[in-house]
Parts: sequence; C-alpha cells; structure tokens
Amino acid sequence: MKIISINAGSSSLKFSLINMENENVIANGVFERIGIDGKYTIKFNGQKYEKEEQLNNHNDAVNILLKELINLKIVNTLDEIEGVGHRVVQGKDIFDKTVIVDDEVMKKLDSIKHFAPLHNPANMLGIEAFKKALPNVPNTVVFDTAFHQTMNKETYLYAVPYEWYEKYGIRKYGAHGTSHRYITETTAQILNTDKFKLISCHIGNGASITAIKDEKCIDTSMGFTPLAGVMMGTRSGDIDPSLLPPVMENENKNIDEIINDLNKKSGVLGLSGISSDMRDLETAYNEGNERAILTMNKYVRRITDYIAQYYVLLNGADVIAFTAGVGENSPLIRKLVCDNLACLGVKIDEEKNNIRGKQALISTPDSKIKVYVIPTDEELMIARDTLSLIKNA
Ligand code: ADP
Repeated sequence: MKIISINAGSSSLKFSLINMENENVIANGVFERIGIDGKYTIKFNGQKYEKEEQLNNHNDAVNILLKELINLKIVNTLDEIEGVGHRVVQGKDIFDKTVIVDDEVMKKLDSIKHFAPLHNPANMLGIEAFKKALPNVPNTVVFDTAFHQTMNKETYLYAVPYEWYEKYGIRKYGAHGTSHRYITETTAQILNTDKFKLISCHIGNGASITAIKDEKCIDTSMGFTPLAGVMMGTRSGDIDPSLLPPVMENENKNIDEIINDLNKKSGVLGLSGISSDMRDLETAYNEGNERAILTMNKYVRRITDYIAQYYVLLNGADVIAFTAGVGENSPLIRKLVCDNLACLGVKIDEEKNNIRGKQALISTPDSKIKVYVIPTDEELMIARDTLSLIKNA
C-alpha cells in the first residue's frame, strides 16, 4: 500500500510517497514557484530529477506530479496510491485529530481559514487539487494543532478579556503538533511504556518546546500563532506587545509590516545581523564574533527557560528529546542547553552527543533525565494516520 503525504504552501507543494509495508520513502520532492513560473524536483532511487515547467496553480502541480510518477516508473499505475494525507496548519478547537476529508470537513476548514491566512487556504488548494486529480482516493487532513488540544483551559487561555476567547477564539493553539506526536510515539517505543514525562524540543528554523505527560500535550511554547515561545531562526518568540507602537511610529510601518518583521526579520537573524541559519551562527560564534555569542547565549537561554518551566509543570521529567534541523544536527546547541540544565542533574556524554541526524541516547548513565536525539518524521506520521483511517473506514 502506498500513501502520499502532502505539504502545500501558497506557492509550493512538497510530497512524499511512502510504501506503508516497510514505511520506506519511495519518492519525494517539491513543486515550487506555483503561480509564478514553476519548477520541480523529484527524488527517487538515489536519483534527482529536476525540471522547469509552467505551474499556473496547484492543480497543475498535482497533475504533473502524478504524470511524472508514471513516466519515471515510480509507480506502474495510479491505482497503487491508496490515500493522500495533507498537512494543515490550523485546526483550531474544531479538530483534535486527523480526519478523512468530506464536504463537511471542507466546510469547517473554510470557516477557520482566516486563523492561518498564509497557510490554511494554501493547504486547502492541495486538497482540492488531489480531489480533482484522484477522485476515488481518500484524502485526510492532519493538523499541526491537533496534538495540543489536550491542554487545559488554564493553559491555553491568555490573561486578556475572556470575551476575546469567546467571541474571537483568542487562545493558545500551538504548532508542530505532528512532530511532537511523532517524538512522543518514538519515545514510547524506546521506553516501552506509555507512562512518561517528556519535554520535546522541536528546534528547526521554527522552534517549539512541548511538555508531554503519558503521551498527552500538557503545554507548548507556541501560541495563537507560531510567533510565540522561544527565539527562532527569524521569529522573535515571546515579546512585550507594548513595544509595537513606538517601533511602528519610528519606522513608519503598519501593524502587518511589523508582524512581518517579527516573523521574518527577528530571532537569530535579527539579533545577530548575520544569518537565520544556525550553521552560519555557529561559525561566527566559534570565531568569537560578539553579536554571534550574544545571539547564541540568548537562543540557548530561551530554550532552557521553557525546559525549566515544563520540568516544574510536569513535576519532573524522564526524557528531554531534541529534534528538527537544529535539534538533530547541532551538538553545540544541545550541549549548551544541557549545560544550563546541570542543576536538574542533566549530564550529556560529549562523545555520544557528537552525532547528526540519528536517533541516539546522548546523556550519561547517571544523568537524572535521559536526553535523546530523535529525528522527526512528519511525513511518515501523516502517512501512518492516513493508513489507519483508511483501514478503519
Ligand atoms: P523548518 O522549520 O524550516 O522545517 P528545519 O527543521 O528544516 O526547519 O531546520 C532548518 C534549520 O536547521 C536551518 O535553518 C539550520 O539553522 C539548522 N541546521 C541544519 N543543519 C545544521 C547543522 N549541521 N548544524 C546546525 N544547524 C543546522
């Protein structure tokens, strides 16, 4: 059985075709510059196939993808594709799990699209395109927010007028839920139990920390949108909103422009003035660049702040897990974070920590909390959900 995982953006569509018998990726790739001009890359069997072709909309991208899967002999017929799972960023409090797409689901998605205006409408274009191209194949929607729906009210409410929540849905929703769920399931497999306290650190360009007890999310660092929480590649993380008016006035910018600056020009990029990419920051840090050192210290400090907060919230922790681009690939950041947690009895083995992109236990045997690197796999999680829904349909 083969399942496609889809992550559709406003001008891009990423896909992974997965053989669910062994969970191996058969092919993956990206269609880019949709609605501008168009190009695509398909990787399969150790080969990389790249082409420039006009992509007027998401339907074009999906039709060409399906045609190429046949042309490149990745599948013999499209009947081999038995399900398509779509990543959707925001499910609000309407969706607390993955669902099969039907008219009712599309209506609900439409009703909440303004909560993630840059993402949800684009995700929906991907769904519509597959419904058209493969009308007999079930589609599912997997929400970035669903895993966080187990947070209690005291956790997800902001201390703002209650009516804002009632009237406008202002509350914490979180993000990266599919990744945190994958890390939770993998931790359960490693520990061979579903009873554990886990602090899951998804640290990529976007970053979020989640407190998990017995496989359920208790709290997470992202908020109403992914702008909140720790400092990220280009996002500020938590700030005092009162700083907005003087910046708007002095920079002569409106609120949308300032929010854009907080999303795209802040974080590691904004503070260091060097780059949003942690590899560049590490190079400058190792060369003794002062702004890089300041930025690195702040970045590590913000991650530590959240881990410490969640350690207290969970009344201890069995496992701290690092994942995503930085979490999986930066021994330096893992070491700096864990050094900051020495007072909690966290100790890492520097030799074991010297790994990239591989699952490993990196703490010492006498560490009070086990520290793992666990490469995330959101595409596989989407495909697994899709398979299980199709089987039970
Ligand atoms: P996204 O949030 O876009 O999904 P990723 O999880 O792919 O991000 O993470 C991308 C980031 O991972 C890059 O911006 C870079 O900072 C970081 N990264 C990738 N490789 C390394 C590495 N070897 N060392 C340090 N950081 C790395």
